[in-house]
Amino acid sequence: MSSVQIRDVRKSFGNFEVLHGVTIPIEDGEFVVLVGPSGCGKSTLLRMLAGLENITSGTISIGERVVNNVQPKERDIAMVFQNYALYPHMTVADNMGFSLKLRGAKPAEIATGVKRAAEILALTPLLDRYPRQLSGGQRQRVAMGRAIVRDPQVFLFDEPLSNLDAKLRVAMRTEIKELHQRLRTTTVYVTHDQIEAMTMADKIVVMHDGIVEQMGSPLELYDTPANQFVAGFIGSPA
Ligand code: ADP
Ligand code: MG
Repeated sequence: MSSVQIRDVRKSFGNFEVLHGVTIPIEDGEFVVLVGPSGCGKSTLLRMLAGLENITSGTISIGERVVNNVQPKERDIAMVFQNYALYPHMTVADNMGFSLKLRGAKPAEIATGVKRAAEILALTPLLDRYPRQLSGGQRQRVAMGRAIVRDPQVFLFDEPLSNLDAKLRVAMRTEIKELHQRLRTTTVYVTHDQIEAMTMADKIVVMHDGIVEQMGSPLELYDTPANQFVAGFIGSPA
């Protein structure tokens, strides 16, 4: 795990600036939740952290290293998306081991990594199944298994629960939190669900139109919102 520093980051697509100078300090092991309305730039920021989108100006550091020009697979970051696509023709074990295989790990290392991830996520009895033989929640756990198998320094989640039904969402929320308590991997978690933010975060970052409106603990934001926007966003029902 590692600290992450986002310093005065701007992002433009052509002439259209979507992030107007965003600064977010993230401590080693912290669980940071980014919230804000659709279109405010959350996914763009995550994609820049992952190295999938270049940075127009500013810097992103992971640990001591400025990563602006570092390729995604050199960043030691794992990302879980909303539309996690499992490989349909591979078993659960092969889905989870694939990223290690791509990075040239030996079969014994892959087996060890998959075994460990499966134990953490209670997937051991399902390792020989194919994705079509799993429930929605089990598939989501496999998607997480693919992320944790490499023991990355940073986890990025982009609205990972928004395709699940309400009951499963609550269960997975607890599971992700427990996973974090166990592994203490630095995490940046994007959601537009206030309840997810309030219950999961060490620190919430409220974004709006490409800027950070406020950041602080859930309690700080709830007790002393900096402005109307934050008050409206934190206070309104999901
Ligand atoms: P969020 O995840 O908060 O909903 P996004 O980061 O996806 O927001 O998008 C922020 C803004 O950037 C939106 O106006 C979106 O249309 C725009 N945008 C995102 N990706 C691109 C792209 N590749 N080209 C042009 N505009 C983009
Ligand atoms: Mg998004």
